[in-house]
Amino acid sequence: MNKVLNNYRLVLKKMEATQKKFSPAPPHTKLIVVTKTFKDDQIIPILKAGHTIYGENKVQEAQTKWQSLKAKYKVELHLIGPLQSNKVRLALETFDAIQTIDREKVAKKIIFHLNSDESLSNKSFKFFIQVNTGNEPQKSGCDMKNAMEFILWCKNDLKLQIHGLMCIPPVDENPEKHFDILNNLANQTSIQFTSMGMTSDYLLAIKNKASYVRVGSAIFGKRSIGNNNL
Ligand SMILES: *Cc1c(COP(=O)(O)O)cnc(C)c1O
Repeated sequence: MNKVLNNYRLVLKKMEATQKKFSPAPPHTKLIVVTKTFKDDQIIPILKAGHTIYGENKVQEAQTKWQSLKAKYKVELHLIGPLQSNKVRLALETFDAIQTIDREKVAKKIIFHLNSDESLSNKSFKFFIQVNTGNEPQKSGCDMKNAMEFILWCKNDLKLQIHGLMCIPPVDENPEKHFDILNNLANQTSIQFTSMGMTSDYLLAIKNKASYVRVGSAIFGKRSIGNNNL
């Protein structure tokens, strides 16, 4: 069997086993297959197997790669990398979910385009706020001290429907602490879904009731352009 497809099935199997152990009742964690830096021929076997949810971290790369694939396959494409406000329109055209909203300017721009561009008006989106749970200066996401206020502002003042919260724990810390922080914040702000967990910790994220995990290298192998391209 195709190696990538084999890895994909293995990840699903492990997810299922972990779910049975820790949360036997639905809703179950959804897998986002992270395809950044990988090419069509590596992704197509998974598309053909019927998987629909994918993640990319760069707007331009995703647009080029996914335009033709989306014409052929049913796809829900998530932006999981940083979003600049001048790329918001292209991001809305390219993606079905944006996981990395982290400041007012970007949130306002999203609302502006949703309200003014007819081509976007019958598309349905999932919006997530990225929270910098480790308060790391080099990382995107809103800081913990502003997170609650920002989430409530998006929901109540801007009327931007927020589907979930997303985090990327610091590499050198126990991720469960950060999954806990994100879960608490989601509870406090009545947000239903979370996106947390990657190749190194997706099973731990499932144990912590993640709604989505984002897995790349466990499926496609190591990326040649560096693993820290977050
Ligand atoms: C690349 C990336 C992932 C996937 O990372 P792996 O360790 O390869 O599973 C998950 N989330 C974000 C935000 C990423 O940029």
